[in-house]
Amino acid sequence: MREHYLDKLKDHGDHGRPKKGILKSPINQLGNITHYSWMKECFPDFIWIALIIDYYGRRPAFTILSFIFKDFNDLSFELKSLQLSYILSLDDEKQGEFYEMLSQHIDIEVLNPLTILFNNNHGIFFEYFFKDGVTVEEKLEILENITDNYGHNKSDGATDVQYVILTFYIIFRQIIHATKNIKPAFEMLYYYQKTNHEEWEMRIYRPTVRSMFGSVQYMIYEHNSEFIKSFWKKLLEIGDCRLKYGMYENEYSIDEAFIEDIKVEFQKLIIDNMHSELEDSKFNVMMGSSVYALKILNELVECNLRDKVMGRLSLRIIIEIFIMLKYINKKADEQPDLWEKYQEYGIGKYKLILIKVREIDEFENSHLNPGLLDILVNEQIDEMFQDVDFRNFESKTNFRDKAIEVDEKELFDVYYDYESSYAHGLWGAVRESSMLKCVNPLHLGHNVPDVHLKKNLADVLPDAVRVFKKLLNFIDENYPLSEEFLSKYEVKNE
Ligand SMILES: [Zn+2]
Repeated sequence: MREHYLDKLKDHGDHGRPKKGILKSPINQLGNITHYSWMKECFPDFIWIALIIDYYGRRPAFTILSFIFKDFNDLSFELKSLQLSYILSLDDEKQGEFYEMLSQHIDIEVLNPLTILFNNNHGIFFEYFFKDGVTVEEKLEILENITDNYGHNKSDGATDVQYVILTFYIIFRQIIHATKNIKPAFEMLYYYQKTNHEEWEMRIYRPTVRSMFGSVQYMIYEHNSEFIKSFWKKLLEIGDCRLKYGMYENEYSIDEAFIEDIKVEFQKLIIDNMHSELEDSKFNVMMGSSVYALKILNELVECNLRDKVMGRLSLRIIIEIFIMLKYINKKADEQPDLWEKYQEYGIGKYKLILIKVREIDEFENSHLNPGLLDILVNEQIDEMFQDVDFRNFESKTNFRDKAIEVDEKELFDVYYDYESSYAHGLWGAVRESSMLKCVNPLHLGHNVPDVHLKKNLADVLPDAVRVFKKLLNFIDENYPLSEEFLSKYEVKNE
């Protein structure tokens, strides 16, 4: 997990609290800053420098590039920028003069891979640097490696390219001046070129180069969105996607008798409590809901939903039942009819569906059976006396408050919220479960829908069992389970 000094909750929003409903990230609180991404936006413009560094090795390449920069003075025109988009925009005569000079310092093979991108419309570039006998695949492979090694911001390669650009603007164009404050940084630039990346001093030099580049970016880089877009678009068209499925293995194994043993325990409780009262709402709600949770746990295992989207939903339902039961039980001390109220609340939700179904003339071929709903709604109280509550149960508190009230804040904040993204089909869940990452470096890490439905998810069962044991522990506090069962599955330790 990454550890950045601005990653903590307290750095977000108003000291960790949302402001107007938004928890703003620390950087976004500073206002508008236009900063171009090295990989996506700057790199295509300077890729030719990366190709030279890679071909000759960094220190020889630094020397070659400084000779090239010196020869800029001999050109019949002023080369104003190192950006490829600028160079390719020059008229043929100027481009020809520049390439002629370049080819006196470097082998034409060095820039040959770029001819797969700049061919038709950029005739003169193609003319100078195209070399027979190298296949498109070979050129693509070179561009892939170059992008991988020099495209990632903060990589050694990217820093080398940024160093070259800085020296051009400092030494040859002199548009950046060493004021007193930044003199030490200038000195570091001098040592940077003489030091190998393995040396420990580079841990100071590299960030200095990068932050210098970042701070003068607005002076030396002019974003040409058309050039950048077409650069990446062409690469997307030429090369194939390499999709990463990130398959998970289900290594966790559940004790085969676990669910069967829970059934036996529940059965005992039902027999013991059946005749205590004719209609005991607390017992009915608690055991009914726990059996509902058990059905879900059973489906999770039996239908092997553990690594599937529905597995996430299963966990969410088990958590919701557990927290709600714990909450009602706590509040029922002051409000003993809360168990009945909870039942009425749920039946009220059914009544709403029923009265809406009655508005529809023909209703068939559906799993929804109005006749059955009618029976359920009218089972205990005539629906005439039944209210429909559109709010959450016990609307004074939302579900998170209920979780906090029963000391299950962590369960809510982390697990319940995470699974809720799945329940609502929000983009985080869609991205994780249904989009694949393309690892072709030339495709900029784009996402591709998992149309063959191959991707699976991390196993949810260990968490589901852990939460279920919490539920069992809670049941035991109200309706004791057998000691044998509790110790066999270490229920008390959860
Ligand atoms: Zn791709």
